Amino acid sequence: MSDVENCIIIGSGPAGWSAAIYAARANLRPLLFEGAMTEENRVMGRFPMGQLAQTTEVENYAGFPSGKLKEFIDSAIDPSRQYMFPPVEEHPHAVTGPELMELMRQQATNFGTRVITDDIVSVDFSKPPLVLNSSENGTFKTHTVIIATGASANYLGLPSEETYRNRGVSACAVCDGALPRFRDKPLVVVGGGDSAVEEASYLTKYASKVYMLLRRGEMRASKIMQERALANPKIELVKFSVVDEVLGADDPRVGVTGVRIRNLQSNQTSILEATGMFLAIGHTPNTKFLGGQVETRENGYIAWKQPYRTITSVEGVFAAGDVADDYYRQAITSAGTGCMAALDAERYLAGAGIH
Ligand code: NDP
Repeated sequence: MSDVENCIIIGSGPAGWSAAIYAARANLRPLLFEGAMTEENRVMGRFPMGQLAQTTEVENYAGFPSGKLKEFIDSAIDPSRQYMFPPVEEHPHAVTGPELMELMRQQATNFGTRVITDDIVSVDFSKPPLVLNSSENGTFKTHTVIIATGASANYLGLPSEETYRNRGVSACAVCDGALPRFRDKPLVVVGGGDSAVEEASYLTKYASKVYMLLRRGEMRASKIMQERALANPKIELVKFSVVDEVLGADDPRVGVTGVRIRNLQSNQTSILEATGMFLAIGHTPNTKFLGGQVETRENGYIAWKQPYRTITSVEGVFAAGDVADDYYRQAITSAGTGCMAALDAERYLAGAGIH
């Protein structure tokens, strides 16, 4: 057997799994790196199964209407991997993000995708074959690579935010919202996009009140999400305001006690008492491990070199999902570009006479 793989997929969100399903069905025997289960990846939002694994219900993925999906999910997924699902009574309306991801993973492995639970930490794309270095499993050579590493949540970059990260500061309400420190206490969500509304709405299940901090006078979120926020009596919009400093106790068990905010119109500061601050201010593509060897656009997202193709600046390297998309950023568009990347890889291999 050749020691050069046909196709290595990096990333385990909808783009990665969809690419794997197509590549496996094209007999490419894909190898997929799903990321490592490390604390650093958890905190930085780079845990296996991507951003969807950190959400609740997914109501807009075509093919999953509201209804009783539990029996189907139970029948489709290996019981040993069902530990990560929230109890069904917490999501009566639709498939959850973790369930959807697990269904995709199962479908990819059903067709023979091999999965390694590890990170790719560096690459050498200077000449064929392409070389990928993993954190724990050594070096891999391959004819094609599909980069589907997604994007991670942004933080504000304040020193005080860093001090209280994991002690009240978080970028994932679904991961951390149920912690005792947030129960029946006021919380702050920074941002006004769809993610912020989703985070704020989720947190109202536990918090006494949720302040949504907007730096402008309006939300960026879609109409339906804005209406959801406005209709929720526990959510209060705090407009034209930014975070000056996260306030907290020295005792780590206490953590965050409040957020000092500044009104951008009056320049006045005030303090919101809160035991938590959740960031929902957009994302940064996960491209660091590429060491600048794949061309990106000005904003850091991987550049597609031809319209309607997932071709990157490096021959044999394709990009799919949020790592290349700063515009649509939906589960279903990621899955679509994952499929495109696998087809592009397959055609490249055929054209090169490799497969
Ligand atoms: P967005 O870019 O849509 O929103 C980011 C929000 O954070 C904006 O309100 C922005 O303010 C604010 N912001 C950015 N930087 C700062 C800063 N430094 N300080 C304070 N506020 C800041 O990101 P989202 O993650 O919300 O959404 C990304 C994409 O994912 C969108 O396309 C969205 O539609 C989609 N999505 C869809 C969901 C759904 O359909 N249910 C759920 C979640 C996400 P400003 O507006 O002033 O720039």
